[in-house]
Amino acid sequence: MALLIKNALLVTMDAARRVLRGDILVEGSRFCRVGTIGRNDMLGLSKLSVIDGTGLWALPGLVQAHVHLCQTLFRNQAEDLELLDWLRRRIWPLEAAHDEESMEASARLGIAELFLGGTTTVLDMGSVRHTAVLFEVARATGLRFVGGKALMDDPGTFPGLRELTAECLAESDALAAKWDGAEEGRLRYAYAPRFALSCTDRLLREVGERVAAGARLHTHASENRSECEMVRASRGATNIHYLKQAGLCTKRSVLAHCVWPAEGEAEVLADTGTAVAHCPSSNLKLGSGIAPIPDYLGRGIRVGLGADGAPCNNRLDAFEEMRLASLIPRPRFGASAISAERVFEMATVGGAEALGLEKEIGSIEEGKQADVTLVDPRGVHALPHAPEVYGTIVHSLRAADVRHVVVAGRPVVRDGDLVGLSQEALRRRAADQWEAVRSRAGLGRGPV
Ligand SMILES: [Zn+2]
Repeated sequence: MALLIKNALLVTMDAARRVLRGDILVEGSRFCRVGTIGRNDMLGLSKLSVIDGTGLWALPGLVQAHVHLCQTLFRNQAEDLELLDWLRRRIWPLEAAHDEESMEASARLGIAELFLGGTTTVLDMGSVRHTAVLFEVARATGLRFVGGKALMDDPGTFPGLRELTAECLAESDALAAKWDGAEEGRLRYAYAPRFALSCTDRLLREVGERVAAGARLHTHASENRSECEMVRASRGATNIHYLKQAGLCTKRSVLAHCVWPAEGEAEVLADTGTAVAHCPSSNLKLGSGIAPIPDYLGRGIRVGLGADGAPCNNRLDAFEEMRLASLIPRPRFGASAISAERVFEMATVGGAEALGLEKEIGSIEEGKQADVTLVDPRGVHALPHAPEVYGTIVHSLRAADVRHVVVAGRPVVRDGDLVGLSQEALRRRAADQWEAVRSRAGLGRGPV
């Protein structure tokens, strides 16, 4: 099966940052030609489907470097709390009440929103149970998915989610063996200790051994000041230093948030090649703070963007995260702290680098995986356009401007709607499954 995207403005994000009017030919899961495509290029292609890109801009599929699909069903149900109360009072009891059906509904709702907003790749942290369901749903829907089971084994952590060290590691190993590299590499595994406070030292070190042997690592770090103080008090080191001691700061590691680096910790991130997942909406909504991203970028640290979970955002909208990533550093670092192009990099090539997938995705280039998002920039909220496109993309466009989305050569959004999925069915399923999981968790319907 081949796909031709005709006559769009191609915002390639290749090394030369070319922006050109042209066509894209996709064969199988990869970009086969980018530029001007004539009849000769299509000789021998039997089945060709065409997307008319006239008036549209073709962007690399957007990458979100930190989400929680297991929490989508908890959207609007955990308002106005700081991190540790948000976890203890709402999120952990709800995650503990998931069964396979509610997990599936949560993932499907989240993936529908991601696709409709132009996101094609995520790094996801699962819950402690039902992680296989997330991989199954990613496989079925076509999402490019790097994920893993959340690990929580500390005696002091939430009892409903706490597991035994050896057992949760064994389950992680089995999931990694089954899913890492599945679907021609569209699915990948990342070991996911939840955060330092929920894990024993032994667990972190055992995960560190796996990371040293080549595994990916995804965790939260230094999101909230109380969390940082508790890590220092209980572990005798500051958070990121502590993770480094356990072998968790590497080129294959992504730390979400890093809002409050202690003395010397930005250097640790830079020296070890550890990537940061920046989650501006979540950091504002939970009152966590503003991460020093311009400082990280200045040190050459890889930074991706993520919406985090629906209950701390409440949207999974990469355009919103780009806009906030551009705006929130300005009071401290100045109005030109991060250029719009640099922000767009974080949502495309930069996110791909953070996930170690830069050879496969992040730009529209021949030979790479055909992940592409076509947006309509002609909405009145985006006019008139500036000569360069990045400012318009980052500051003016929004998720509702997304018209078509393709992942690995497969259209998942056409004309602004999901391909092969009924939004009405998703709505009904989400409502039923939210009611079921809320009831199992014993939580009331009212505000917190
Ligand atoms: Zn998170």
